[in-house]
Amino acid sequence: LPSELTSAKPVLNQINQAGFQAYFVGGCVRDIILEKPIHDVDIASSAYPEEIKQIFKKTVDTGIQHGTVMVLDHGHGYEITTFRTESTYTDFRRPDQVTFVRSLSEDLKRRDFTINAFALQADGQVIDYFDGLTDLSKRQIRAVGQATERFTEDALRMMRALRFSAQLDFAIEDETFQALVALGPNLAKIAVERIQVEFEKMLQGIAAGPALRHLIRGQLLPYLPGKTGRVTDDYLAKVALQLEKQQPQTEATVWTLYLGQLALAKDDLQDELRQWKLSRNVMQTVTALSPLLANPEAIDQWAIYEHHQDFETLMETLAIMGTSAECLERINRLHAELPVYSAKELALSGGDLIQAGLATPGPALGQYLHALERAVVLGEVANTKEAITVFIKELADGHS
Ligand code: ATP
Ligand code: MG
Repeated sequence: LPSELTSAKPVLNQINQAGFQAYFVGGCVRDIILEKPIHDVDIASSAYPEEIKQIFKKTVDTGIQHGTVMVLDHGHGYEITTFRTESTYTDFRRPDQVTFVRSLSEDLKRRDFTINAFALQADGQVIDYFDGLTDLSKRQIRAVGQATERFTEDALRMMRALRFSAQLDFAIEDETFQALVALGPNLAKIAVERIQVEFEKMLQGIAAGPALRHLIRGQLLPYLPGKTGRVTDDYLAKVALQLEKQQPQTEATVWTLYLGQLALAKDDLQDELRQWKLSRNVMQTVTALSPLLANPEAIDQWAIYEHHQDFETLMETLAIMGTSAECLERINRLHAELPVYSAKELALSGGDLIQAGLATPGPALGQYLHALERAVVLGEVANTKEAITVFIKELADGHS
């Protein structure tokens, strides 16, 4: 067992000693077998939440209605979820009912893909009821049971299939893919936020390019958030090629790359961003950077200064877009050589100008400051008290 799991072993053992079963389940088992870093450790148990709370002194009800209790042990929190089944998905998205069960196989059966349906015992033994190990070695995503049934129950699983194929660089097994093609329209019923999460993880995956092409082949685009016609299959194919070279490191880059290159008018872009229900921060970054992406050669000091906050996102996006090394170097150099990075760094502030009797409060002062900021950023005026004083005096003379 890797170290992340050894520390949880005593917790599993304690549950076992109380007469219940407990296993590591879900993504952590998959990632251990693949020797990949683990995000979160999920533990499943035959014990009901009330029973878990009797076994351990310190617990927190983190999600008791779904059967999850957090056990605190030696300063660590471990989420323990009671084995459960989910039944009758009448709205294609959420189970109407969660039922606690005592059988591990019932719990594993409700999971989406064979590679996500392993259980791992405290002694290191892997339980594999659905031949997930074979799928891992074939490097493919395959639904547990009948793919059509599973995607009908929960359409989000189709996005998850694409997401895992992108993260792991796995193929999607034939029958699973056919089901995805057939049931794609059900995606339209899934909450945008949930699609957004999977789509974002997909675009950050090592095989995001191939996953986007699965999405095209599966004709899923019409059922994704966004207005029909803005993003096209050709556009997706272009982004797929770009992602083949480099992976976006942040969510801001994902969305700047994905929507910022559409060259939409500001209102349309904001509408598209809203349809994806993106955060205010992401919306601001994409809206700010989008106009620059159309012509990287034209990016000057002023543009770089104005978008200093989003500079890393800008550079990452331009690199993924395949912008030439010369152009990237030029922008980097201009950024490094900026005399100031914000108005606060100007050697004289508006208040200083007023105190020195160089300006009076009012709209003209705002105009002076803006002209000054621009002149300093463009290197036309040195950022010193003396040079700024001369510049402001000239401006005032010109106005009077
Ligand atoms: P990650 O490493 O990104 O967290 P994960 O496999 O742990 O990947 P989660 O979304 O954290 O994915 O879900 C944990 C587990 O719960 C999955 O491995 C899978 O067994 C199960 N699961 C999650 N979502 C679904 C779903 N929509 N349908 C069926 N099973 C699901
Ligand atoms: Mg997880």
